[in-house]
Amino acid sequence: MHDKDMLARHAPEWQVHPDWLQPGQPAAQPGRQTFAMPHSQHSARPDSRPGSRADIRPELRACARPDVRSETRPDPRRQRQRMVEELARQGIADAAVLAAMAEVPRHLFVDEALTGRAYDSGTLPIGRGQTISSPFTVAKMTSLLQVEPGMRVLEIGTGSGYQAAVLTRLGCLVESVERLPELHEKATALLHSLGCTGVRTWLADGTLGLPALAPFARIIVTAGGPAVPHPLLEQLDENGIMLIPVGNSKNQRLTRVFRRAGSLYEQDCGPAVFVDLVGSHGW
Ligand code: SAH
Repeated sequence: MHDKDMLARHAPEWQVHPDWLQPGQPAAQPGRQTFAMPHSQHSARPDSRPGSRADIRPELRACARPDVRSETRPDPRRQRQRMVEELARQGIADAAVLAAMAEVPRHLFVDEALTGRAYDSGTLPIGRGQTISSPFTVAKMTSLLQVEPGMRVLEIGTGSGYQAAVLTRLGCLVESVERLPELHEKATALLHSLGCTGVRTWLADGTLGLPALAPFARIIVTAGGPAVPHPLLEQLDENGIMLIPVGNSKNQRLTRVFRRAGSLYEQDCGPAVFVDLVGSHGW
């Protein structure tokens, strides 16, 4: 589905934070920067703003009866609020992470047919056998990463782009790598159409990292591999933190790696089930 259609379909229902609609605008948060996306062919269309009638196709406009729609369709903002309340009940205590997840329109990161399940607790397919992580996994990983505004974060496994969007919402400058062209292109277009300027997307084997842009304060790998890829360890900055699921294809342990005074320390953060990390230093 084209992102323009997606925005048109959802336009009446959600509001975007002003930051997200103004690529290149000065940051709202202190210390936050924005930068352009090198791979996107798309530009923000003023007429695709939420609420703009110009972008609603005639057949949709014809059946857009606000009274009926508001009764039958759930309000994504309320769904997000319920989602973060549930995450808090499940033990996610990081208020900044919960606030970021209450803002990012998760329903736009899944296929239209699955929109109704976007705020449920499970993972959902995003095509090519890949999945968007569950809200709890995203919340837990983001909390464990201990990010601060302005931090440079390398993400391996762009997938839908949702995790990257949450990190940019927290003020991070994200370099996100995906190996599958179809997912890379879709996520790139969506992040750009949302005005999410704090992320750059790359089509590459993420197990090699992005040596030209290293070091990174944080590295997050959202696919599971047999071991921690060496190139990624080398690209982790002093005082850096890396999160990666390590194990076999069915079961992994979420592993947190710290670099302190030149040494590396590993911490086991519990069981995890992710799709395969495929590449030179993966499966
Ligand atoms: N973070 C994603 C979830 C990604 S699922 C989200 O928020 O939606 C894992 C993704 O990792 C898949 O899209 C898969 O194609 C990608 N992947 C697997 N191996 C990779 C590699 N070596 N380099 C880059 N991406 C990889």
